[in-house]
Amino acid sequence: MEKPKRSGEFEIIRRLFAPLAEGMPGAFDLTDDAAVLDPAPGERLIVTADCLVEGVHFPAGAAPDEVAPKLIRVNISDLAAMGAKPWAYTLTTAFGPAVDDPWIERFAAVLGEEQKTWGIGLIGGDTVATPGPSTFTVTALGTIGAKQNPLRRNGACPGERVWVSGTVGDGALGLKAVRGGLSYVDDADRQYLIERYHRPTPRMALGCALLGVATAAIDVSDGLVADLGHICETSGVEAMVAQVSVPLSQAARSARDKDPALTESILTGGDDYELLFTAPSSAEGRIQEIGGDLGVQVTEIGVVVASSGGAPVRVKGPGGRELSFSRTGYTHS
Ligand code: ADP
Ligand code: MG
Repeated sequence: MEKPKRSGEFEIIRRLFAPLAEGMPGAFDLTDDAAVLDPAPGERLIVTADCLVEGVHFPAGAAPDEVAPKLIRVNISDLAAMGAKPWAYTLTTAFGPAVDDPWIERFAAVLGEEQKTWGIGLIGGDTVATPGPSTFTVTALGTIGAKQNPLRRNGACPGERVWVSGTVGDGALGLKAVRGGLSYVDDADRQYLIERYHRPTPRMALGCALLGVATAAIDVSDGLVADLGHICETSGVEAMVAQVSVPLSQAARSARDKDPALTESILTGGDDYELLFTAPSSAEGRIQEIGGDLGVQVTEIGVVVASSGGAPVRVKGPGGRELSFSRTGYTHS
């Protein structure tokens, strides 16, 4: 097989990545050794990193359109879960053998679109080649006001309510569809689920609006049950979720109606990037108002209870029976 054409590291940086640093003064058009950042006075930096590996987080040979949006969105979703506004990011690319110039050109073009959508700019990174799977790492920087308390995972208290944004389970069902499953689901629904998997919607504005309202927050990446478990463990509490309250998209609902066994994937499957948060019951009106103002569905799905030494998260089915799962979330083992 002919070796794919790929420009050298410096050419890639100059031609494709430097334009993405336009408007970020401290990035020096990616011509220096490092970037220099001046957060606005009175602002704190919030920093997070995520890495996507070919064959693990996206299929081998995936198109740039299936990688770039997810790379940006999973990262800034972590900023949303802290209540931070996105600002800048670094990008480290390890291109595998099959990646050629057109792939990287399209990758950079989609990154440019994502930057516009989410209001961030590129400030640096590293470009290397690897004989192994392609690997992409983004470090995202966000800001919050110095006097604001970021949304931590550790503030949930017994008696508070559990909320989730958007709909749950689309990411997990989208992944099944990407892998060729869900053949019994309508084409339009399959497309919707696949789109939700490739291009999740990080809840940036909601995260910021929940500062001072939510007592704990996390974004749903590992699965609703596992991620609520993370809040519970860090907060030293437990939670009860009512399955009937968990909001499903029309596509997920119709898939689940055809195959009730999908309930487990919906509740434990991950990749939703919705915000899961807790708040006192007195905040219900305020939360609904925020959701209404932002046009984001917010749904109360459960309650925080004192620790009893049991499972951190219990899900009650329609008949009041507790559901049991063979797995609680996605872990890379
Ligand atoms: P060094 O050898 O010191 O690591 P590089 O040639 O790798 O320098 O990088 C030069 C400049 O280009 C630096 O400012 C670096 O941050 C930037 N850069 C390199 N790769 C990327 C990338 N994938 N995305 C964004 N910026 C990059
Ligand atoms: Mg380098």
